[in-house]
Amino acid sequence: MIKKKIKDLNLSATLKINEISKNLEKDGKEIIKFGFGQSPFQVPDKIVESLKKNAHQKSYLPIQGLDELREAIAKYESKKKNINFKADQIFVGPGTKELMFLLHISFEGEIIIPCPSWVSYQPQSIIADNKFHWIKTTSENNWYPTAESIENLILKNKETKYLMILNSPNNPSGQVCINLKEISEIIKKYKIIVLSDEIYSELSFNKNYESISNYCSENVIVSNGLSKWCGAGGWRLGYFIIPDELKQLKNSIKVLASETFSAVSAPIQFAAITAFNDDHEKYVLNSRKILKGIGEYVYKNLKSNNVIMNKPMGGFYLMPEFLNKKFKTSQEMCTDLLNKKGVAMLPGSDFGFLNDKMIARISYTDFDGKNFMSNINSDTTIDENLIKKFAPKIVEGTKRLKEWVEKG
Ligand code: GLU
Repeated sequence: MIKKKIKDLNLSATLKINEISKNLEKDGKEIIKFGFGQSPFQVPDKIVESLKKNAHQKSYLPIQGLDELREAIAKYESKKKNINFKADQIFVGPGTKELMFLLHISFEGEIIIPCPSWVSYQPQSIIADNKFHWIKTTSENNWYPTAESIENLILKNKETKYLMILNSPNNPSGQVCINLKEISEIIKKYKIIVLSDEIYSELSFNKNYESISNYCSENVIVSNGLSKWCGAGGWRLGYFIIPDELKQLKNSIKVLASETFSAVSAPIQFAAITAFNDDHEKYVLNSRKILKGIGEYVYKNLKSNNVIMNKPMGGFYLMPEFLNKKFKTSQEMCTDLLNKKGVAMLPGSDFGFLNDKMIARISYTDFDGKNFMSNINSDTTIDENLIKKFAPKIVEGTKRLKEWVEKG
């Protein structure tokens, strides 16, 4: 009674590890939650106030999103990218995950997914019956595909239409793509459509964030939302910017939205206007500074001859490879760590790596972001003392991981 392709799917790894960790905690275990990736910071007060003020909003809103919100997002993104986006190009959804799903359902063609990539792109293409290709990357190229590797894949079948996913800063590697220009040449040459998942863009440690849309905007659907920079993952509000050249895709997504979620929750949309219209620079700068400090702390303390990884560049993930661990699968390796040390992390196999590659993802978000942020100002340097005081579980988790690497 259940379709085979659906039966073969599992619970999404990120949500599953969140539930496992919480259940272990309920049973009285002290778990270090390096598995699930969600912002440790509070939603800024003014935005929460705006949500309270709009609790009475009860009508269904336009399918594509409230006009005033789309205007605010267009203005915010135009300023950030120095591109003139129009409100009509913005599509608001209940989290970008749902919009991506509708894109997969609408799109006729094949999907290119760099390995490693976030856990849901591939299952979504399976559900939508789209053929997908993992594309190999290397740590030397920051875990992003080279133009050459993309071209080699396209040349195997030039007749097909391709949708490529690009996510910078990246989940799970914590890296930023530095070869956007060369990738954009291939995108233009073969008219590839790009889904640029920019959900971590505000959390890029280098101030000058660059989007692939700055090189080939007519091919690029930008995806972003409130979950990461605004600490509002549970509010479920994301958006796409769809260029006029891809209007047909936008119209199909609109039909699917009208037949599924109808429109995003009204109070959340009204509150989001405040999020995009107001200036939250201080909050974002402090979030970035704390995450950079913590990411570098874990990196510095964990890196060794047996543990290799790239230095974090944005977002809140690190992707170590454990050279001295010999398990059949990276899932077994993570289970061993959870059982022995109570540290939860996700195996590389959830992000596209072969089972026997001893890679994992650490989400360094297990700390009270509200408390940390309220104790720093613009001159504060995030040093070890501060991390010990305000992020003790990060320190403890890093210590337990180190012991596990060294002694098993
Ligand atoms: N993006 C987050 C993660 O990778 C969680 C949200 C999700 O996967 O839906 O942990």
